[in-house]
Amino acid sequence: MNFYNILFSLTSVLLFLVADYLIFGTIFQKEIFLLFLLILCASYMHRYSLFVFLITIFLFSFVGYLFYSYYGRSITINDIVLFTRHTTETFDTFFDRRAVFLKAFVVSGLFFAAMIFAFATLGKKLKKHRMGKLALISVIFIILGGNFKNYSVFLLASSLKDYALIEKEAPYQTNFFSDIEALKEGEANIILVIGESLRYSKMRLFGYEKDTTPGLDRLKNKENFIYKPCISYATSTDVSVPLLLNPIENPKQLRNIRLFSRNLFRLAKKNGYRTYFISSQSQRVIKYMKKFIGMRFIDVFKTCEDMSDGCKFGMMDGKLLEEFKSMDLNKKSFVVLQMSGQHSPYRYYPEEFGRFSEDVLGRYDNSVLYTDYVISEIIKYIENFAKRPTVFIFTSDHGEMLGEKSRWGHNCFEKEVYSVPFVFYTKNLEDKALKEIENAHFMTHYNISELILYYLGYSSSFSPKLTDIYVNGTMITGEDGYIKLENVIID
Ligand SMILES: [Zn+2]
Repeated sequence: MNFYNILFSLTSVLLFLVADYLIFGTIFQKEIFLLFLLILCASYMHRYSLFVFLITIFLFSFVGYLFYSYYGRSITINDIVLFTRHTTETFDTFFDRRAVFLKAFVVSGLFFAAMIFAFATLGKKLKKHRMGKLALISVIFIILGGNFKNYSVFLLASSLKDYALIEKEAPYQTNFFSDIEALKEGEANIILVIGESLRYSKMRLFGYEKDTTPGLDRLKNKENFIYKPCISYATSTDVSVPLLLNPIENPKQLRNIRLFSRNLFRLAKKNGYRTYFISSQSQRVIKYMKKFIGMRFIDVFKTCEDMSDGCKFGMMDGKLLEEFKSMDLNKKSFVVLQMSGQHSPYRYYPEEFGRFSEDVLGRYDNSVLYTDYVISEIIKYIENFAKRPTVFIFTSDHGEMLGEKSRWGHNCFEKEVYSVPFVFYTKNLEDKALKEIENAHFMTHYNISELILYYLGYSSSFSPKLTDIYVNGTMITGEDGYIKLENVIID
């Protein structure tokens, strides 16, 4: 190895680290060695291939920093898989945040400049070689892959496995659930409203300082109205929503989900219910989870394409309210409404709900104000017009990081992401489950889905289980991990 090549690589890496520190106030230690190897191999290239290489590295680092500025962590192969699932939405989120873009652009630009500087200083003395060295170093890098978990071939393998498992069945699973039979008729209509990216701590109902939930606050002293913090099934929509509709406690249960033995739509239909799934999100956004919700057991299925022109990713949730009011609820019904709610970039609210500021946090609050309007109107409608016994449940699929630890978005195991609201109301129905819920310190998504199973007539009693709670990640196979919460403290 040539002394100048090593000097070139070291200088570039050092300048890069300075840029890192200046912009992000931190140094990404894990990547240093990788970066050194990459630059070292680049230093053996001839001028033109080096230029192409630098542009490529510039683009990669730009994407990496863009990701870091928003999510507060390094990009992983799994994120790339997620990106392929939600490409346009991701762009929509990033384009909305110019500052994030700028930061990423500046730091990768500085890196680019550092390399050019180092090259200009030492360029002539560098030992040039054909691309052979690049291949050699790439091989070393791949072998070392396990140490660079974020880039590791092993993680790529699990991501691909996730894809494959969705099509096939999970081989490691042995405890298959068998079909279950109803114990009683299931008398109540069940209305489950699934919010989007809503953290309970951003609701006045739960003590937030801003007045984001005037509608629910007016209802909170009503009889049979209960609200509790809740732990979500997962950190992403794609996993939370299917699990809410297939009550399963433990992670890595894809086979059982695919069997639909505990699918709520299937069991509802089996017990004489008419079933609805109405989503204000688009077909494109929900395409991954659609495979697991039990499409063939849904009588009325609508997405935003069916309810509005110009639907791109989602629409204002007021349409869900209209849809709900137009349903014939004199028939025994199981209704699931999926909201657009607080989906980034937090713009799903009409102008008149823009009561808080127009910056990103203000827009989040505005969208909570609108969600509050929609769900409190649904509850009022049930209160005034429901003739049948009716159970109303509201929760959110997951929460959202809003700048805590410099992180935004979800898909990570943070309390802001798995702490969601639970709002419960019943009409024309007195039953013992209510007391159980009232006495619980908090609820979990698993408990919600078990509660629905109870109201559908499949269990004789309900009591929430509040220990050893699992929170899944972004893959329904559990391949990207899950966490177990042993003692949950909710303040
Ligand atoms: Zn979501």
